[in-house]
Amino acid sequence: MSRLAICPGSFDPVTYGHLDIIERGASVFDNVIVVVFNNQSKAPLFTVEERVALLEESTKHLPNVTVDESNELLIDYAMQQKAQVVLRGLRAVSDFEYEMQITSMNRKLNERVETLFMMTNNQYSFLSSSIVKEVAKYKANVSDLVPEAVEKALKKKYS
Ligand code: ADP
Repeated sequence: MSRLAICPGSFDPVTYGHLDIIERGASVFDNVIVVVFNNQSKAPLFTVEERVALLEESTKHLPNVTVDESNELLIDYAMQQKAQVVLRGLRAVSDFEYEMQITSMNRKLNERVETLFMMTNNQYSFLSSSIVKEVAKYKANVSDLVPEAVEKALKKKYS
């Protein structure tokens, strides 16, 4: 049976931190679906369509990775896709409590889908979409934080 993992998130926009987790996930699982969930509480900069397009561009070198979007509950989406695993990245202790809450709730909703965490690559432990947007707004160079397509899209948004 082929192993499928779902990589959920806001990806507003995708950073090299996200990509690191996606790439490592793609080397462990047969297939990975990166899913953009619209977290309204985060007041996104990019539309879901823009985020999906940037993810597609940034993962095109990974043949076993596809990109999707969903408005459903994560666990329902995972069940529909017959995914065994939800893959999340962990940066710092600050991520831990939030991830614990979500994971406990997801397990309560459905025990069959397992959540696995990958620890971030040290070089990206400070990196978040919010930080990238904050500095891009002031026209700082973000080329070592995000893929080229994202850098261009940020420049356009803030021009
Ligand atoms: P969410 O709103 O669901 O937290 P994000 O787009 O912020 O969505 O993050 C999606 C996933 O990527 C989460 O598991 C998050 O912990 C992980 N992630 C984000 N930034 C990094 C990073 N720099 N290194 C490793 N994982 C990261």
